[in-house]
Amino acid sequence: MKVSKRQELMKIVDLNESLVVLGGGLNALVVAIELLKAGKRVTMIEAGRSDCKAASSSEYRAFKKNFSSPKFGLKDRSFTYAGYINRTKVKAVNFKVIGSLATGGLSNLWGGDIRDYDDDDLKDFPYSKSEVASIEEDILNLMTNYNPDGEKVVAKEVVYNFHRAGIDGRCAELIEQWGNSSENIGFDLPKLAILVNDKDDRKRCDHSDACLVKCPNGSIFNAAYEIEKLRENPNFVHLTGVLIEDVSKSRMGYTLSARNMIDGK
Ligand SMILES: Cc1cc2nc3c(=O)[nH]c(=O)nc-3n(C[C@H](O)[C@H](O)[C@H](O)COP(=O)(O)OP(=O)(O)OC[C@H]3O[C@@H](n4cnc5c(N)ncnc54)[C@H](O)[C@@H]3O)c2cc1C
Repeated sequence: MKVSKRQELMKIVDLNESLVVLGGGLNALVVAIELLKAGKRVTMIEAGRSDCKAASSSEYRAFKKNFSSPKFGLKDRSFTYAGYINRTKVKAVNFKVIGSLATGGLSNLWGGDIRDYDDDDLKDFPYSKSEVASIEEDILNLMTNYNPDGEKVVAKEVVYNFHRAGIDGRCAELIEQWGNSSENIGFDLPKLAILVNDKDDRKRCDHSDACLVKCPNGSIFNAAYEIEKLRENPNFVHLTGVLIEDVSKSRMGYTLSARNMIDGK
């Protein structure tokens, strides 16, 4: 029997036997890890592919212009936001939109940092600090391989890297614009969560000062590293290159409408 390109690309996964996590960024990763720890079977579906293409020149220029973060100046990581607006057709009326269709999501852009929130910070949220403390600890471990008895430093100032990447002027501009602002937005010296202990074949930060360019040790968090490890878990199925277009509820359960990112069908 002749197998069409489309059939070749199709994978049969029984979603009745599994919980479905949509996306493969930091948030989806934490959800998947928690569910696997609770002994569930998890299918992670994400649009992300490892061979993501860089953003087109016009998209790159638009992001640099529309978003103030110096991270958008990193052309080699523009694959992180490439195609997001066109593919998802999100309509931005009075807001600017940024999202990712890459494996590992926006954390590819340049890791992330960790803030120590207290109950006051969380007063508008439907949970208290103590209710999310164990998840917070999980994230801290995930991003830094932190050992409660070991070194406590989990973030480092990386402002000197702006100089190396040639965007120190932009950084100075942002600090001037937002640094002393009394508004609800602040711009501070950038801090970055880094590995404080070796993790698998990744090494703890040795201050190579190459954060913005590409950390030679893999010390900077990227959800894709962790997903690669989860793939060894027999209870975890990872479907990439599948763009979810709609989720609807029916008597039978949930129906996902998806588009294959490879052949577009
Ligand atoms: C420029 C910039 C700088 C930032 N700096 C920091 C920082 O310094 N510190 C910090 O803590 N945070 C920072 N953030 C915010 C942080 O990156 C995000 O809050 C975080 O990455 C969001 O994680 P997420 O898992 O929700 O989404 P993402 O990381 O965006 O992941 C989305 C995932 O969902 C998948 N996906 C999306 N749509 C679909 C679909 N329709 N079908 C299938 N799959 C889909 C993608 O493939 C991807 O795997 C920054 C964000 C930006 C834009």
